[in-house]
Amino acid sequence: MFMKKNLLILSIMAACSSAAQAATIYNAGFEDGWSDWNEVDPAAISGDAYQGSSSLKIQGSPGRVHQVVDIERNTEYTLSAYVLGKGQIGINDLNGLFKNKKFDVSTWTKVSRTFTSANTDSLQVFAKHDKSSDDVRFDNFSLVKADGSGGSTGGGGDGDTGGDGTSIPSSITSGSIFDLEGDDPNPLVNDSTLVFVPLEAQHITPNGNGWRHEYKVKSSLRVAMTDTYEEFEASVKVDMSDGGKTIIAQHHASDTGTIMKVYVSDSAESGFDDSVAGNGIFDVYVRLRNTSGNEEKYALGTITSGGSFDLRVVNNYGDVDVSALGSSFGIPVEDDSASYFKFGNYLQSQDTATLDDCGESGNSNSFKECFEDLGITTSKVTMTNVSYTRVTN
Ligand code: CA
Repeated sequence: MFMKKNLLILSIMAACSSAAQAATIYNAGFEDGWSDWNEVDPAAISGDAYQGSSSLKIQGSPGRVHQVVDIERNTEYTLSAYVLGKGQIGINDLNGLFKNKKFDVSTWTKVSRTFTSANTDSLQVFAKHDKSSDDVRFDNFSLVKADGSGGSTGGGGDGDTGGDGTSIPSSITSGSIFDLEGDDPNPLVNDSTLVFVPLEAQHITPNGNGWRHEYKVKSSLRVAMTDTYEEFEASVKVDMSDGGKTIIAQHHASDTGTIMKVYVSDSAESGFDDSVAGNGIFDVYVRLRNTSGNEEKYALGTITSGGSFDLRVVNNYGDVDVSALGSSFGIPVEDDSASYFKFGNYLQSQDTATLDDCGESGNSNSFKECFEDLGITTSKVTMTNVSYTRVTN
């Protein structure tokens, strides 16, 4: 089953996106035991794998495993692996360039670190324990060259628009897949740019908790997460008053529940890189509902108002992965028979200092008062280089 789906995805990639190029990590999933890897004990090959029948297990200090990988100089790469436990992955070119990603997770999770190579033709990719960790497992390493071409993606004959980025796909704006929530003003301000301004659109839904301006997949097209491969990418610029909080992408369940949410938030909520309300530093983070029905949250980084980042959301038949700001987080999610993807700017009516809801569900006037009280006078999300791919079983 897994192989079949992967083949399908590969054909999609070849057809309609600028394929990222990979540097080769041999025996990346430890299916051939120690072949191609160098090992410092305590480390072992484990039968508890993310995929296949083997993974790497490191049991404590000074356990370390590495492989020397050929790379291109002065090139941006993303190192990823699936991990379970507490530890770190990273690269070391033995010439001063060292980048690592620490993690502490209780389910198999994809972790990533983006870096730019220096003037060396190879580097070590390594896996290590972290302080006071016991058994930590690693599987399916990858090292992928970032697409640095800036504006040549899109394919399929859409064409570029004179260097302003790719055209917004008609699949988003034609009404064939997405409905628009809040049609005044139209987010399509020119053929390569979507601008979402909920303070102007003021769209509400019965159970909603704020003003929204979004595209959402039509109700007739909603299917199970496990029956869909979806890939959404955009360059996202956020202009927002201090203390603002918005959801820019989500997978919604058929009821009022949510499966995946990407936030940009200047809030006191704990667990992120800043977690201070009203200081103009916005945490970018993701919440995913795992297969046990519990939400897991993960910090992707921070921006300030006027800043931008590239967002990538993939639902690979129920395995969701969200990347931004050089970080990514992915887990299998709890499924829903009629889930749907939406994106734009869903401004949350919440006092981000106290974390209290401000305003009444579905009451537009209460949201108006709330945003005025909180001083939220600017909330603009601009998306360019937007692409969306969807394949259903
Ligand atoms: Ca903050």
